[in-house]
Amino acid sequence: MRRFLLLAGWLLLAMTGQAADKPNIVFIFSDDHAYQAISAYGDPRKLNETPNIDRLAKEGMRFDRCLVPNSICGPSRACVLTGKYNHLNGFYNNTNSRFDPAQVTFPKLLQKAGYQTAVVGKWHLISDPTGFDYWHILPGQGIYYNPPMIDNGKRVNHTGYTTDIITDLSLDWMKNRDKSKPFLLMCQHKAPHREWSPALRHLGHDNDRVYPEPETLFDDYSGRGKAEKSQDMTLERTFTRLDAKFVYPPGMNDEQKKEWDKYYAPRNAAFEKNKPQGKDLVRWRYNRYLHDYLGCIKAVDESVGRVLKYLEDNNLAENTIVVYASDQGFYLGEHGWFDKRWIFEESLRTPLLVRWPKTAKPGGTTNKIVSNIDFAETFLEAAGVEIPKEMQGRSLTLLLRGETPKDWRTSFYYHYYENSPAVHNVARHYGVVTDRYKLVRFYDPEFNYSELFDLQKDPKELTSMFDKPEYADVQKELETELVRLRKDLKVPDPDPPETIIGKKEPKKKAKE
Ligand code: CA
Repeated sequence: MRRFLLLAGWLLLAMTGQAADKPNIVFIFSDDHAYQAISAYGDPRKLNETPNIDRLAKEGMRFDRCLVPNSICGPSRACVLTGKYNHLNGFYNNTNSRFDPAQVTFPKLLQKAGYQTAVVGKWHLISDPTGFDYWHILPGQGIYYNPPMIDNGKRVNHTGYTTDIITDLSLDWMKNRDKSKPFLLMCQHKAPHREWSPALRHLGHDNDRVYPEPETLFDDYSGRGKAEKSQDMTLERTFTRLDAKFVYPPGMNDEQKKEWDKYYAPRNAAFEKNKPQGKDLVRWRYNRYLHDYLGCIKAVDESVGRVLKYLEDNNLAENTIVVYASDQGFYLGEHGWFDKRWIFEESLRTPLLVRWPKTAKPGGTTNKIVSNIDFAETFLEAAGVEIPKEMQGRSLTLLLRGETPKDWRTSFYYHYYENSPAVHNVARHYGVVTDRYKLVRFYDPEFNYSELFDLQKDPKELTSMFDKPEYADVQKELETELVRLRKDLKVPDPDPPETIIGKKEPKKKAKE
Protein backbone atom coordinates (compact mmCIF):
# COMPACT_ATOMS: atom_id res chain seq x y z
CA MET A 1 0.00 0.00 0.00
CA ARG A 2 2.75 2.41 1.04
CA ARG A 3 4.72 1.63 -2.09
CA PHE A 4 1.60 2.22 -4.18
CA LEU A 5 1.02 5.62 -2.54
CA LEU A 6 4.62 6.63 -3.19
CA LEU A 7 4.33 5.55 -6.80
CA ALA A 8 1.02 7.43 -7.17
CA GLY A 9 2.63 10.52 -5.67
CA TRP A 10 5.54 10.27 -8.04
CA LEU A 11 3.20 9.87 -11.01
CA LEU A 12 1.20 12.89 -9.92
CA LEU A 13 4.35 14.97 -9.71
CA ALA A 14 5.49 13.75 -13.08
CA MET A 15 2.09 14.58 -14.59
CA THR A 16 1.84 18.07 -13.10
CA GLY A 17 5.50 18.77 -13.66
CA GLN A 18 6.07 20.07 -10.16
CA ALA A 19 9.49 19.71 -8.74
CA ALA A 20 8.97 17.91 -5.44
CA ASP A 21 10.51 20.37 -3.05
CA LYS A 22 10.89 23.61 -4.95
CA PRO A 23 7.79 25.73 -4.71
CA ASN A 24 6.72 27.94 -7.59
CA ILE A 25 6.49 31.63 -6.83
CA VAL A 26 3.83 33.96 -8.17
CA PHE A 27 4.56 37.50 -7.11
CA ILE A 28 1.68 39.85 -7.88
CA PHE A 29 2.80 43.41 -7.46
CA SER A 30 0.66 46.48 -7.93
CA ASP A 31 1.66 50.11 -8.05
CA ASP A 32 0.47 52.51 -5.35
CA HIS A 33 -2.16 50.18 -3.88
CA ALA A 34 -3.01 51.50 -0.41
CA TYR A 35 -3.79 48.93 2.28
CA GLN A 36 -6.83 51.10 3.04
CA ALA A 37 -8.21 49.87 -0.29
CA ILE A 38 -7.97 46.12 0.43
CA SER A 39 -11.02 44.92 2.34
CA ALA A 40 -8.97 42.32 4.26
CA TYR A 41 -7.18 45.23 5.97
CA GLY A 42 -10.47 46.45 7.44
CA ASP A 43 -10.23 50.20 6.85
CA PRO A 44 -12.98 51.89 8.91
CA ARG A 45 -14.19 53.75 5.80
CA LYS A 46 -14.98 50.38 4.15
CA LEU A 47 -13.99 51.82 0.81
CA ASN A 48 -14.22 48.68 -1.31
CA GLU A 49 -14.41 44.90 -1.54
CA THR A 50 -11.46 42.95 -2.90
CA PRO A 51 -12.70 39.33 -2.64
CA ASN A 52 -9.87 37.73 -4.60
CA ILE A 53 -7.03 39.56 -2.86
CA ASP A 54 -8.81 38.82 0.43
CA ARG A 55 -8.62 35.11 -0.35
CA LEU A 56 -4.86 35.33 0.09
CA ALA A 57 -5.45 36.71 3.59
CA LYS A 58 -7.96 33.97 4.43
CA GLU A 59 -5.85 31.16 3.02
CA GLY A 60 -2.55 32.69 4.01
CA MET A 61 -1.07 35.44 6.11
CA ARG A 62 -1.72 39.17 6.34
CA PHE A 63 1.23 41.37 7.30
CA ASP A 64 0.02 44.51 9.02
CA ARG A 65 3.33 46.36 9.16
CA CYS A 66 5.22 45.76 5.99
CA LEU A 67 7.34 48.90 5.66
CA VAL A 68 9.24 50.18 2.64
CA PRO A 69 12.68 51.81 2.96
CA ASN A 70 11.80 54.53 0.39
CA SER A 71 8.19 55.09 -0.56
CA ILE A 72 8.35 55.53 -4.31
CA CYS A 73 8.06 53.28 -7.38
CA GLY A 74 11.52 52.61 -8.85
CA PRO A 75 13.44 52.56 -5.56
CA SER A 76 10.94 50.13 -4.06
CA ARG A 77 11.28 47.77 -7.01
CA ALA A 78 15.07 47.88 -6.66
CA CYS A 79 14.70 46.91 -2.97
CA VAL A 80 12.48 43.95 -3.88
CA LEU A 81 14.92 42.60 -6.46
CA THR A 82 18.09 43.04 -4.43
CA GLY A 83 17.01 42.69 -0.79
CA LYS A 84 19.01 45.85 -0.13
CA TYR A 85 18.46 49.51 0.68
CA ASN A 86 18.74 52.06 -2.12
CA HIS A 87 22.16 53.33 -1.04
CA LEU A 88 23.49 49.83 -1.81
CA ASN A 89 21.43 48.97 -4.90
CA GLY A 90 22.06 52.44 -6.34
CA PHE A 91 18.47 53.29 -7.28
CA TYR A 92 17.72 56.34 -5.15
CA ASN A 93 14.94 58.12 -6.99
CA ASN A 94 12.70 58.06 -10.05
CA THR A 95 14.33 61.08 -11.64
CA ASN A 96 17.97 60.30 -12.24
CA SER A 97 18.63 56.73 -11.09
CA ARG A 98 19.24 53.74 -13.33
CA PHE A 99 19.24 50.16 -12.09
CA ASP A 100 22.62 48.51 -12.55
CA PRO A 101 21.58 45.31 -14.36
CA ALA A 102 24.83 43.52 -13.43
CA GLN A 103 24.05 43.36 -9.70
CA VAL A 104 22.83 40.30 -7.86
CA THR A 105 19.03 39.90 -7.75
CA PHE A 106 16.85 37.08 -6.47
CA PRO A 107 15.43 36.23 -9.95
CA LYS A 108 19.01 35.71 -11.19
CA LEU A 109 19.78 33.39 -8.30
CA LEU A 110 16.55 31.46 -8.81
CA GLN A 111 17.28 31.16 -12.53
CA LYS A 112 20.71 29.75 -11.70
CA ALA A 113 19.07 27.27 -9.36
CA GLY A 114 16.92 25.89 -12.17
CA TYR A 115 13.88 28.12 -11.97
CA GLN A 116 12.14 29.41 -15.04
CA THR A 117 11.69 33.14 -14.53
CA ALA A 118 9.38 35.78 -16.01
CA VAL A 119 8.40 39.39 -15.38
CA VAL A 120 5.33 40.90 -17.00
CA GLY A 121 4.04 44.47 -16.67
CA LYS A 122 5.53 47.47 -14.95
CA TRP A 123 9.30 47.42 -14.51
CA HIS A 124 10.29 51.08 -14.24
CA LEU A 125 14.01 50.62 -13.57
CA ILE A 126 15.30 52.24 -16.79
CA SER A 127 17.76 49.41 -17.68
CA ASP A 128 16.41 46.21 -19.25
CA PRO A 129 15.47 43.31 -16.96
CA THR A 130 18.16 40.69 -16.35
CA GLY A 131 17.74 37.27 -14.79
CA PHE A 132 14.48 36.54 -16.64
CA ASP A 133 13.82 33.92 -19.31
CA TYR A 134 10.88 36.01 -20.41
CA TRP A 135 10.18 39.68 -19.95
CA HIS A 136 7.32 41.67 -21.38
CA ILE A 137 7.23 45.08 -19.80
CA LEU A 138 5.69 48.52 -20.05
CA PRO A 139 8.12 51.24 -21.09
CA GLY A 140 8.55 53.64 -18.14
CA GLN A 141 5.28 54.25 -16.31
CA GLY A 142 3.23 52.70 -19.11
CA ILE A 143 -0.31 53.76 -20.01
CA TYR A 144 -3.74 52.35 -19.10
CA TYR A 145 -5.19 51.90 -22.59
CA ASN A 146 -3.70 50.14 -25.64
CA PRO A 147 -0.21 50.09 -24.14
CA PRO A 148 2.94 49.69 -26.17
CA MET A 149 5.13 47.10 -24.41
CA ILE A 150 8.59 45.64 -24.78
CA ASP A 151 8.66 41.88 -25.37
CA ASN A 152 12.15 40.55 -24.62
CA GLY A 153 13.63 43.72 -26.15
CA LYS A 154 11.17 44.11 -29.03
CA ARG A 155 8.56 46.87 -29.01
CA VAL A 156 5.02 45.53 -29.51
CA ASN A 157 1.56 47.12 -29.47
CA HIS A 158 -1.44 45.85 -27.55
CA THR A 159 -5.11 46.73 -27.72
CA GLY A 160 -7.19 46.78 -24.57
CA TYR A 161 -6.91 47.61 -20.90
CA THR A 162 -3.44 47.30 -19.42
CA THR A 163 -4.34 45.33 -16.27
CA ASP A 164 -6.14 42.73 -18.42
CA ILE A 165 -3.27 42.57 -20.90
CA ILE A 166 -0.69 42.01 -18.15
CA THR A 167 -2.90 39.24 -16.74
CA ASP A 168 -3.39 37.59 -20.15
CA LEU A 169 0.36 37.64 -20.84
CA SER A 170 1.09 36.22 -17.38
CA LEU A 171 -1.40 33.37 -17.83
CA ASP A 172 -0.11 32.65 -21.34
CA TRP A 173 3.41 32.39 -20.03
CA MET A 174 2.38 29.99 -17.27
CA LYS A 175 0.47 27.86 -19.78
CA ASN A 176 3.42 27.67 -22.17
CA ARG A 177 6.23 27.35 -19.68
CA ASP A 178 8.60 24.41 -19.45
CA LYS A 179 6.61 22.25 -17.05
CA SER A 180 9.61 20.27 -15.88
CA LYS A 181 10.97 23.26 -13.92
CA PRO A 182 9.74 25.27 -10.97
CA PHE A 183 8.90 28.86 -11.90
CA LEU A 184 8.96 32.44 -10.73
CA LEU A 185 6.36 34.75 -12.24
CA MET A 186 6.42 38.45 -11.37
CA CYS A 187 3.08 39.86 -12.50
CA GLN A 188 3.46 43.60 -12.02
CA HIS A 189 0.52 45.90 -12.60
CA LYS A 190 0.56 49.54 -13.54
CA ALA A 191 -2.71 50.00 -11.66
CA PRO A 192 -3.78 51.79 -9.56
CA HIS A 193 -1.08 54.39 -10.32
CA ARG A 194 -1.99 57.98 -11.19
CA GLU A 195 -3.94 59.04 -13.23
CA TRP A 196 -6.18 56.20 -12.02
CA SER A 197 -7.98 55.26 -15.26
CA PRO A 198 -10.39 52.37 -14.66
CA ALA A 199 -11.43 49.74 -17.20
CA LEU A 200 -14.53 50.78 -19.17
CA ARG A 201 -16.50 47.95 -17.54
CA HIS A 202 -15.83 49.45 -14.12
CA LEU A 203 -16.93 53.01 -14.81
CA GLY A 204 -19.77 53.74 -12.41
CA HIS A 205 -18.88 50.69 -10.28
CA ASP A 206 -19.76 52.60 -7.10
CA ASN A 207 -23.16 53.95 -8.20
CA ASP A 208 -22.07 57.51 -7.44
CA ARG A 209 -21.30 56.69 -3.86
CA VAL A 210 -20.38 59.56 -1.56
CA TYR A 211 -17.32 58.16 0.26
CA PRO A 212 -16.75 58.61 3.99
CA GLU A 213 -14.04 61.22 4.49
CA PRO A 214 -10.82 60.65 6.39
CA GLU A 215 -10.64 62.78 9.55
CA THR A 216 -7.66 64.65 8.14
CA LEU A 217 -9.06 65.58 4.72
CA PHE A 218 -8.73 69.26 5.67
CA ASP A 219 -5.46 68.99 7.58
CA ASP A 220 -3.81 72.39 8.11
CA TYR A 221 -0.40 70.82 8.97
CA SER A 222 -0.18 72.67 12.26
CA GLY A 223 1.83 70.67 14.78
CA ARG A 224 4.34 69.84 12.05
CA GLY A 225 7.03 71.73 10.12
CA LYS A 226 7.85 73.40 6.84
CA ALA A 227 8.14 70.21 4.75
CA GLU A 228 4.54 69.19 5.43
CA LYS A 229 3.34 72.70 4.68
CA SER A 230 5.31 73.16 1.46
CA GLN A 231 4.55 69.82 -0.28
CA ASP A 232 2.60 69.76 -3.53
CA MET A 233 0.38 66.68 -3.39
CA THR A 234 -3.01 67.87 -2.22
CA LEU A 235 -6.44 67.35 -3.70
CA GLU A 236 -6.87 71.09 -3.19
CA ARG A 237 -3.83 72.43 -5.05
CA THR A 238 -2.25 69.63 -7.04
CA PHE A 239 -5.14 67.67 -8.58
CA THR A 240 -5.09 68.30 -12.37
CA ARG A 241 -7.75 68.17 -15.08
CA LEU A 242 -6.21 64.91 -16.23
CA ASP A 243 -6.54 63.54 -12.68
CA ALA A 244 -10.16 64.76 -12.64
CA LYS A 245 -10.92 63.13 -16.04
CA PHE A 246 -11.65 66.31 -17.94
CA VAL A 247 -9.04 65.05 -20.39
CA TYR A 248 -8.91 61.54 -21.93
CA PRO A 249 -6.17 59.23 -20.67
CA PRO A 250 -3.40 58.77 -23.26
CA GLY A 251 -3.65 55.99 -25.82
CA MET A 252 -7.44 55.63 -25.99
CA ASN A 253 -9.11 54.92 -29.34
CA ASP A 254 -12.38 56.52 -30.52
CA GLU A 255 -14.51 53.57 -29.56
CA GLN A 256 -13.10 53.57 -26.02
CA LYS A 257 -13.56 57.34 -25.78
CA LYS A 258 -17.23 56.92 -26.64
CA GLU A 259 -17.75 54.48 -23.76
CA TRP A 260 -15.67 56.68 -21.46
CA ASP A 261 -17.85 59.69 -22.26
CA LYS A 262 -21.02 57.81 -21.34
CA TYR A 263 -19.87 57.84 -17.75
CA TYR A 264 -17.81 61.02 -17.41
CA ALA A 265 -19.49 63.51 -19.79
CA PRO A 266 -22.78 64.00 -17.88
CA ARG A 267 -20.98 64.12 -14.53
CA ASN A 268 -18.41 66.59 -15.82
CA ALA A 269 -21.20 68.74 -17.25
CA ALA A 270 -22.93 68.77 -13.86
CA PHE A 271 -19.64 69.83 -12.28
CA GLU A 272 -19.19 72.69 -14.76
CA LYS A 273 -22.75 73.84 -14.10
CA ASN A 274 -22.41 73.86 -10.31
CA LYS A 275 -18.72 74.78 -10.07
CA PRO A 276 -18.14 73.72 -6.48
CA GLN A 277 -15.69 75.92 -4.58
CA GLY A 278 -13.46 75.67 -1.50
CA LYS A 279 -14.15 72.61 0.64
CA ASP A 280 -16.91 71.49 -1.70
CA LEU A 281 -14.40 71.37 -4.53
CA VAL A 282 -12.00 69.26 -2.42
CA ARG A 283 -14.92 66.94 -1.58
CA TRP A 284 -15.91 66.63 -5.23
CA ARG A 285 -12.30 65.77 -6.14
CA TYR A 286 -12.03 63.28 -3.29
CA ASN A 287 -15.06 61.38 -4.57
CA ARG A 288 -13.93 61.51 -8.20
CA TYR A 289 -10.48 60.31 -7.10
CA LEU A 290 -11.86 57.38 -5.14
CA HIS A 291 -14.23 56.31 -7.89
CA ASP A 292 -11.32 56.15 -10.31
CA TYR A 293 -8.71 54.72 -7.95
CA LEU A 294 -11.00 52.00 -6.61
CA GLY A 295 -12.22 51.29 -10.14
CA CYS A 296 -8.63 50.48 -11.13
CA ILE A 297 -8.36 48.13 -8.16
CA LYS A 298 -11.43 46.20 -9.29
CA ALA A 299 -9.51 45.07 -12.37
CA VAL A 300 -6.46 44.21 -10.26
CA ASP A 301 -8.65 42.11 -7.97
CA GLU A 302 -10.15 40.30 -10.97
CA SER A 303 -6.62 39.65 -12.18
CA VAL A 304 -5.70 38.02 -8.86
CA GLY A 305 -8.84 35.86 -9.18
CA ARG A 306 -7.84 34.70 -12.66
CA VAL A 307 -4.31 33.83 -11.54
CA LEU A 308 -5.58 31.87 -8.51
CA LYS A 309 -8.05 30.01 -10.71
CA TYR A 310 -5.31 29.07 -13.16
CA LEU A 311 -3.20 27.66 -10.33
CA GLU A 312 -6.13 25.67 -8.96
CA ASP A 313 -7.29 24.38 -12.35
CA ASN A 314 -3.77 23.19 -13.09
CA ASN A 315 -3.06 21.53 -9.78
CA LEU A 316 -0.44 24.11 -8.91
CA ALA A 317 -2.04 25.82 -5.91
CA GLU A 318 -0.53 23.50 -3.28
CA ASN A 319 3.04 24.01 -4.37
CA THR A 320 2.95 27.68 -5.28
CA ILE A 321 3.70 30.64 -3.06
CA VAL A 322 1.39 33.50 -4.02
CA VAL A 323 2.33 36.94 -2.81
CA TYR A 324 0.30 40.10 -3.21
CA ALA A 325 2.05 43.39 -2.45
CA SER A 326 2.32 46.94 -3.68
CA ASP A 327 5.47 48.99 -4.23
CA GLN A 328 4.33 51.28 -1.39
CA GLY A 329 1.27 52.64 0.31
CA PHE A 330 -0.72 55.69 -0.79
CA TYR A 331 -2.80 58.51 0.62
CA LEU A 332 -6.51 58.28 -0.02
CA GLY A 333 -7.31 61.81 1.14
CA GLU A 334 -5.54 61.53 4.52
CA HIS A 335 -3.88 64.89 5.23
CA GLY A 336 -5.67 66.17 2.12
CA TRP A 337 -3.23 64.16 0.00
CA PHE A 338 -2.91 61.68 -2.79
CA ASP A 339 0.54 60.19 -3.66
CA LYS A 340 3.16 58.71 -1.31
CA ARG A 341 6.86 59.55 -0.44
CA TRP A 342 6.55 60.28 3.30
CA ILE A 343 7.66 58.21 6.26
CA PHE A 344 4.10 58.59 7.58
CA GLU A 345 2.04 55.42 7.96
CA GLU A 346 -0.16 55.51 4.83
CA SER A 347 2.84 55.65 2.49
CA LEU A 348 5.39 53.84 4.67
CA ARG A 349 3.22 50.72 4.97
CA THR A 350 2.48 48.55 1.99
CA PRO A 351 0.01 45.66 1.81
CA LEU A 352 1.53 42.18 1.99
CA LEU A 353 -0.47 38.96 1.78
CA VAL A 354 1.17 35.58 1.39
CA ARG A 355 -0.47 32.24 0.61
CA TRP A 356 1.90 29.35 0.97
CA PRO A 357 0.05 26.12 1.71
CA LYS A 358 1.56 24.00 4.52
CA THR A 359 3.81 26.90 5.56
CA ALA A 360 1.76 30.06 6.04
CA LYS A 361 -0.91 29.81 8.68
CA PRO A 362 -4.32 30.33 7.03
CA GLY A 363 -5.95 33.46 8.39
CA GLY A 364 -2.79 34.40 10.28
CA THR A 365 -1.81 38.01 10.90
CA THR A 366 1.29 39.64 12.26
CA ASN A 367 2.18 43.19 13.24
CA LYS A 368 5.90 42.51 13.35
CA ILE A 369 7.93 44.97 11.29
CA VAL A 370 8.75 43.38 7.96
CA SER A 371 9.84 44.99 4.72
CA ASN A 372 10.08 44.56 0.97
CA ILE A 373 13.83 44.02 1.50
CA ASP A 374 12.76 40.68 3.09
CA PHE A 375 11.06 39.34 -0.06
CA ALA A 376 14.25 38.25 -1.88
CA GLU A 377 15.50 36.34 1.16
CA THR A 378 12.11 34.65 1.63
CA PHE A 379 11.98 33.43 -1.97
CA LEU A 380 15.60 32.25 -1.91
CA GLU A 381 15.06 30.30 1.28
CA ALA A 382 11.89 28.75 -0.11
CA ALA A 383 13.85 27.61 -3.15
CA GLY A 384 16.69 26.25 -1.03
CA VAL A 385 19.13 28.81 -2.43
CA GLU A 386 21.78 30.33 -0.21
CA ILE A 387 21.01 33.95 0.75
CA PRO A 388 23.91 36.28 -0.16
CA LYS A 389 25.43 37.86 2.94
CA GLU A 390 25.17 41.38 1.57
CA MET A 391 21.37 41.22 1.43
CA GLN A 392 19.95 43.33 4.25
CA GLY A 393 16.57 41.75 4.87
CA ARG A 394 15.57 38.48 6.47
CA SER A 395 13.44 35.56 5.29
CA LEU A 396 9.81 35.74 6.49
CA THR A 397 9.45 31.96 6.65
CA LEU A 398 9.35 31.70 10.44
CA LEU A 399 6.82 34.52 10.74
CA LEU A 400 4.74 32.78 8.12
CA ARG A 401 4.80 29.63 10.23
CA GLY A 402 3.44 31.65 13.13
CA GLU A 403 6.73 31.83 15.04
CA THR A 404 8.50 35.03 16.02
CA PRO A 405 12.27 34.81 16.25
CA LYS A 406 13.44 36.49 19.48
CA ASP A 407 15.83 38.71 17.58
CA TRP A 408 13.30 39.92 15.00
CA ARG A 409 13.75 43.62 14.18
CA THR A 410 11.98 46.11 16.42
CA SER A 411 13.09 49.23 14.56
CA PHE A 412 13.29 50.20 10.92
CA TYR A 413 15.27 52.75 8.93
CA TYR A 414 13.60 54.91 6.27
CA HIS A 415 15.18 57.26 3.72
CA TYR A 416 13.48 59.31 1.00
CA TYR A 417 15.96 60.88 -1.42
CA GLU A 418 14.07 62.99 -3.94
CA ASN A 419 15.09 66.50 -2.94
CA SER A 420 12.79 69.46 -3.14
CA PRO A 421 12.00 71.08 -5.55
CA ALA A 422 10.93 67.98 -7.49
CA VAL A 423 7.67 66.26 -8.39
CA HIS A 424 5.28 66.83 -5.46
CA ASN A 425 7.93 68.80 -3.64
CA VAL A 426 8.43 66.50 -0.67
CA ALA A 427 11.65 67.31 1.19
CA ARG A 428 14.30 64.64 1.66
CA HIS A 429 14.10 62.92 5.00
CA TYR A 430 15.21 59.89 6.92
CA GLY A 431 14.10 58.42 10.18
CA VAL A 432 13.60 55.49 12.49
CA VAL A 433 10.31 53.72 13.09
CA THR A 434 9.44 51.42 15.98
CA ASP A 435 6.18 49.78 17.06
CA ARG A 436 5.19 52.95 18.84
CA TYR A 437 7.38 55.87 17.81
CA LYS A 438 8.79 57.58 14.78
CA LEU A 439 11.71 60.01 14.67
CA VAL A 440 12.02 61.96 11.41
CA ARG A 441 14.82 64.22 10.21
CA PHE A 442 14.31 66.68 7.32
CA TYR A 443 17.96 67.32 6.62
CA ASP A 444 18.15 69.73 3.69
CA PRO A 445 19.51 73.07 4.93
CA GLU A 446 16.34 74.98 4.05
CA PHE A 447 14.34 72.59 6.23
CA ASN A 448 16.69 71.31 8.92
CA TYR A 449 14.33 70.08 11.61
CA SER A 450 13.23 66.89 13.34
CA GLU A 451 9.90 65.46 14.39
CA LEU A 452 8.85 62.79 16.83
CA PHE A 453 5.48 61.06 16.73
CA ASP A 454 3.86 58.82 19.33
CA LEU A 455 1.68 56.52 17.26
CA GLN A 456 -0.14 55.24 20.30
CA LYS A 457 -1.34 58.69 21.39
CA ASP A 458 -1.36 60.27 17.98
CA PRO A 459 -2.00 57.56 15.36
CA LYS A 460 -2.75 60.13 12.66
CA GLU A 461 0.70 61.71 13.21
CA LEU A 462 -0.54 65.27 13.64
CA THR A 463 1.60 66.66 16.46
CA SER A 464 5.34 66.37 16.72
CA MET A 465 6.64 65.78 20.24
CA PHE A 466 10.24 66.52 19.34
CA ASP A 467 12.03 68.42 22.12
CA LYS A 468 9.01 68.13 24.43
CA PRO A 469 10.39 67.44 27.94
CA GLU A 470 8.03 64.50 28.54
CA TYR A 471 9.53 62.73 25.50
CA ALA A 472 13.18 63.46 26.34
CA ASP A 473 14.06 59.85 27.17
CA VAL A 474 12.21 58.43 24.18
CA GLN A 475 13.87 60.99 21.92
CA LYS A 476 17.31 60.09 23.19
CA GLU A 477 16.69 56.39 22.64
CA LEU A 478 15.39 56.96 19.13
CA GLU A 479 18.33 59.18 18.26
CA THR A 480 20.76 56.50 19.43
CA GLU A 481 18.87 53.86 17.46
CA LEU A 482 18.91 56.03 14.34
CA VAL A 483 22.69 56.41 14.54
CA ARG A 484 23.05 52.66 15.10
CA LEU A 485 20.85 51.77 12.12
CA ARG A 486 22.61 54.19 9.78
CA LYS A 487 25.95 52.69 10.73
CA ASP A 488 24.70 49.11 10.58
CA LEU A 489 23.11 49.59 7.17
CA LYS A 490 26.16 51.46 5.85
CA VAL A 491 24.22 54.62 4.93
CA PRO A 492 26.60 57.15 3.33
CA ASP A 493 26.78 60.54 5.04
CA PRO A 494 26.28 62.97 3.39
CA ASP A 495 24.11 61.66 0.52
CA PRO A 496 26.24 60.82 -2.53
CA PRO A 497 26.19 63.52 -5.26
CA GLU A 498 24.31 61.30 -7.75
CA THR A 499 21.23 61.52 -5.54
CA ILE A 500 20.86 65.25 -6.12
CA ILE A 501 18.17 66.04 -8.63
CA GLY A 502 18.64 69.06 -10.81
CA LYS A 503 22.40 68.76 -11.19
CA LYS A 504 22.66 67.87 -14.87
CA GLU A 505 25.36 65.56 -16.18
CA PRO A 506 27.21 67.07 -19.16
CA LYS A 507 25.52 65.76 -22.30
CA LYS A 508 27.43 63.09 -24.17
CA LYS A 509 28.03 63.89 -27.79
CA ALA A 510 25.58 61.93 -29.93
CA LYS A 511 27.07 59.35 -32.27
CA GLU A 512 27.18 60.58 -35.83
CA1 CA B 1 4.39 53.21 -6.85
